[in-house]
Amino acid sequence: MKKLFAVIGNPIEHSLSPLLQNEAYQLNGIDAHFHAFHVEHECLREAVQGMKALGVQGFIVTVPFKAEIIPYLNVVDADARQMNAVNIVKKIEGKYVGYNYDGKAWLQALLEDMKQPSLSTERILLIGAGGAAQSIYSALSRFKPIDIDIANRTVSKAEQLIAMNPIKRATAIPLEEAERNQSQYDIIVQTTSIGMAPHSEQTPIQLTNVKEGAFVSDIIYNPAETKFLQQARKCGAHTQNGMKMLAFQNALAIEMWTGKKVSNKQMLDSLVKALT
Ligand code: NAP
Repeated sequence: MKKLFAVIGNPIEHSLSPLLQNEAYQLNGIDAHFHAFHVEHECLREAVQGMKALGVQGFIVTVPFKAEIIPYLNVVDADARQMNAVNIVKKIEGKYVGYNYDGKAWLQALLEDMKQPSLSTERILLIGAGGAAQSIYSALSRFKPIDIDIANRTVSKAEQLIAMNPIKRATAIPLEEAERNQSQYDIIVQTTSIGMAPHSEQTPIQLTNVKEGAFVSDIIYNPAETKFLQQARKCGAHTQNGMKMLAFQNALAIEMWTGKKVSNKQMLDSLVKALT
């Protein structure tokens, strides 16, 4: 019998995961099916129980349930618990175990596009302090000693994020300060939802003076080039959108669930095809 995998969220109808996952199963000979479930807030517990009863072997968790799902899982990996956010769940010996791969996927994409297997002395600006920012901060700080400023509309949330995982050179700053000091950074990562379609005219800060040759990543993938990335490109920066992060995350989920390594490139090709 086919294995069953899923994504849960609210809203969920625009999720690209069913298309990416089912295409990958077909291309890689994986005997499985992937389904998107819209879950009402008050039904989350029942939804998890139902998936377990029906034999769902693993599922992706998206907005707004990344934190809310935690009490309904049997085990939560230490990193995901620290971030208070789960985005991938695997059934292990009948138990649902939660992980967070947002940051891992983003870091893979960064290193691939920077064409270097490591980071050295870069100064990093992380914009945002939500779930994705937490995961990226955690992945970066585990990867290397880093020098990072975290800018957020609500500065106290950036402070909390650092307090959860304190490192030597991490500072919480307001967005205005990040805008003023933008030329100091070698890597800038935009993780807020500002600039997402249909509000694609907005940016969290104006980029007018980015360091020549800096690397600017925006984890939004719709539109493919946010206004933020347009501004970065005009300043001479190397830019990256959120497509690779999403594609790599889906590949990581398949590997975790089935043990099969699917090609990141094939995942990305499917995503680009779906979005164009
Ligand atoms: P989240 O936890 O809700 O965090 C949202 C962040 O955006 C917070 O830092 C929030 O600041 C900021 N923000 C929202 N509206 C703002 C506004 N009007 N002005 C200033 N700041 C504002 O969301 P998330 O889960 O981290 O996701 C953030 C974005 O990343 C979404 O667009 C999501 O689609 C995208 N994402 C992409 C991938 C991928 O694979 N490419 C993966 C995960 C997420 P405050 O703290 O001040 O509220």
